[in-house]
Amino acid sequence: MEEGLPLLGSPLPSPVFWKAEVELVTHPSPRQPSERASPRPVFLTELVHPRDREHTLAVLREVAADGRARRCLHRSAATNGGSRWCLTSIRGIRDESGRIQELAGVTQPMRGPLFAGEEFQQHESGLRQLLAQVPAFLYLTDRELRFIATAGSELAGPDLELEGRPLLDVLGAGEESSSMLAAHRHALGGEPARYDTEWSHRTFEVRVEPAFDEEGTCTGTLGIAIDVTEQRREEEELRTSAERLRTLLETTSDSIYLKDGEGRWLEANDTGLQLFQLSRAGYQGLTDLELARRNDFFREAFIACYASDQRTWDAGKPTRMEEIISQPGESPRVIDVTKVPLFHPNGERKGLVVLGRDITRRRMAEQERDRLLHQEKEARAAAEEARRRSEFLSSASRVLADSLDYDATLATVARLGLPVLGEWCAVDLVGEDLHVARVATAHAESSKEPSARPLEKCVPDLEKPGGIAEVIRNRRPFVLSVQPGEEGMLALCDHERSHLETVRELGLRSWLSVPLVARGRTMGALTFASVRPDRYRSEDVMLTGDLAWRAALALDNARLYRESQQAIQARDEFLSIASHELRTPITALRLGIQRLFRLARGGAEPPWKTVAASLDGVERQGKRLTLLIDSLLDVSRLQSHHIQLDLEEVDLSGVVRDVVAQLGSVLARTHTPLSLRADTPVVGQWDRVRLEQIVTNLLDNAIKYGAQAPIEVTVALENGAAVLTLRDRGIGISPERMPFIFGRFERAVSSRHYGGLGLGLYIVRQIVELHGGTIQVESSPGKGSTFTVRLPRG
Ligand code: ADP
Repeated sequence: MEEGLPLLGSPLPSPVFWKAEVELVTHPSPRQPSERASPRPVFLTELVHPRDREHTLAVLREVAADGRARRCLHRSAATNGGSRWCLTSIRGIRDESGRIQELAGVTQPMRGPLFAGEEFQQHESGLRQLLAQVPAFLYLTDRELRFIATAGSELAGPDLELEGRPLLDVLGAGEESSSMLAAHRHALGGEPARYDTEWSHRTFEVRVEPAFDEEGTCTGTLGIAIDVTEQRREEEELRTSAERLRTLLETTSDSIYLKDGEGRWLEANDTGLQLFQLSRAGYQGLTDLELARRNDFFREAFIACYASDQRTWDAGKPTRMEEIISQPGESPRVIDVTKVPLFHPNGERKGLVVLGRDITRRRMAEQERDRLLHQEKEARAAAEEARRRSEFLSSASRVLADSLDYDATLATVARLGLPVLGEWCAVDLVGEDLHVARVATAHAESSKEPSARPLEKCVPDLEKPGGIAEVIRNRRPFVLSVQPGEEGMLALCDHERSHLETVRELGLRSWLSVPLVARGRTMGALTFASVRPDRYRSEDVMLTGDLAWRAALALDNARLYRESQQAIQARDEFLSIASHELRTPITALRLGIQRLFRLARGGAEPPWKTVAASLDGVERQGKRLTLLIDSLLDVSRLQSHHIQLDLEEVDLSGVVRDVVAQLGSVLARTHTPLSLRADTPVVGQWDRVRLEQIVTNLLDNAIKYGAQAPIEVTVALENGAAVLTLRDRGIGISPERMPFIFGRFERAVSSRHYGGLGLGLYIVRQIVELHGGTIQVESSPGKGSTFTVRLPRG
């Protein structure tokens, strides 16, 4: 044995066990270069064929470097007449510090011809390298499946003598023997076969092929068992992790899609497929646009997916978005989508991971929450609004209740709603004559009052359409929001363009007008205007309506109060007039009677002329008293509707002639000329006494207020009705008193100048109307008056 390679066993052809210092292979001359003729270990020169020394040395160096066991196939040095194929297994032996100090190996001759044929000889070095690196066990059997030759037999145990032993004895154990047998029989039948087997706690994949001799006869089998423990473990791990991944994919409630760099669908979990109602078979390898073409219902959804994929690719980073996917027969789903683009190192698109979470319920819950929140907010706002309204209204009520003065109340009403309900306000009231009067206006900014003044004249006309007139006519609120200059605005401006200018100047854009109704009577309208367009909403209409109701009530109260004050004043006035009026004839009556007493007590024959004159005066004053008292009685009867007409056939012309005749002495005394045209009989069904009362009262007034100017009295027939006209040229009546002269105790003159109770015309009108007729008056101060009575003839 050579130094440095102590051979532990016998020389070839038996297995040789050897050990060598690692330095022998790692350093060409480890100690003294002169001490060694060759840097190579003796093992190499003794046992390895020169042609195989280089690659065997390379294997030894690899083992020396990392200590891992390796095998090396080589021929033996041709010492005794021929070389043999040997398999050498080498291991590194570490010292205590873990460094590799020695190499240990076994070189085993291969029995029988392992390889045959010229062709294979050419590839032997390649095969050697392969065998050195791949942990494999090669064997050749005869047809009875007995080992003829083996290589890498260390895998089955280093000291196992295999040649000649049946394959089944060595490798066949338990269940695997049947698959092993089957594979070998297959190979003996000429077909290659493979099977996996467990061996020394490792897994081997065994490939079995038929072995042929030079004539092509199958002489046995050629098997190679490759240690695939790691590979199988990795495969198993891969399979487990793939299974885990699939379980994960399928158990998650999220939708998961994997697409390749071209947007083709690679994989999707069930949730993801259900979202688009796709089957497992019907999507792989297709792009969104191809899926869109195949699926009408989800066309838009797929196109949208394609578009959002593109955005993700463009962004080059994970993107998140919300997508709404319609569902047949169901409400659409809201999906929170995250798209993660994957790129190759060279920047090319590798794939896209799409994760979708169904947030429909969350969104619905959010929507419900928002709705409730909104509702709550609205309720709070409504409560706040109601509080504000009631505060506003109660303060308005307080202010309105403050005064019973009508004019003060009017001004208050105009100011009350400003600026809460707008910038400008007007109060319009309907008078007795059915004309509207703008009784109060106000502007929220006092500096703008002068500019707003022209609108005081902008009085609604009940004859014209639209606007405030419509509110009064229909008793309905009216809201208008217009661009200045529009027709609707004109209606509010009494159809006057000049008022429109004022409205423009003030910048008023919205209008709200509500009726003023109190005790069932439409008094007029309360109107607000604002500079804000579309200012008035239904709640403002309600609020203004409430305000108007209170204002109308306050105004009506003030009116009633004023009227009652006036009535009290009129009553006082009446009492003083009545006492004066009654006292005058009583005084004259008493004077006449006293004169008669004196004459009677005189003892002498009384001067009968004087007595007659006194009696005439007494009679006149008595009549006057009777008339006054009758008038008072008539008034109370008329008021309580206790006057009954005693209808009969009466000639009005005759009645007029009689009255004129009765008043002849008065006409004479007052020097009043009278012309009468009552020649034709005008007959009707009337109450004679009441007719006389009408004519007497009217003629009395004509004489009283006629300033001794001629009076014309005519009776005529017009359109089948009797018409009585009394025209005087006296003092006339002022226009402002005209509306009142037919009222009770109403007078247009001072009692100092003209006596009278102010009841004559009231009684006349009541009687005329009881007959179904009318009375009219035309008059101008200083020019006289004409009273016209029209009576239907029954
Ligand atoms: P009286 O004459 O007693 O005052 P009346 O009811 O008869 O009451 O008349 C009411 C008012 O109408 C009078 O106070 C007067 O002012 C006015 N009047 C009535 N007739 C005439 C007339 N012919 N000319 C002018 N004024 C008249």
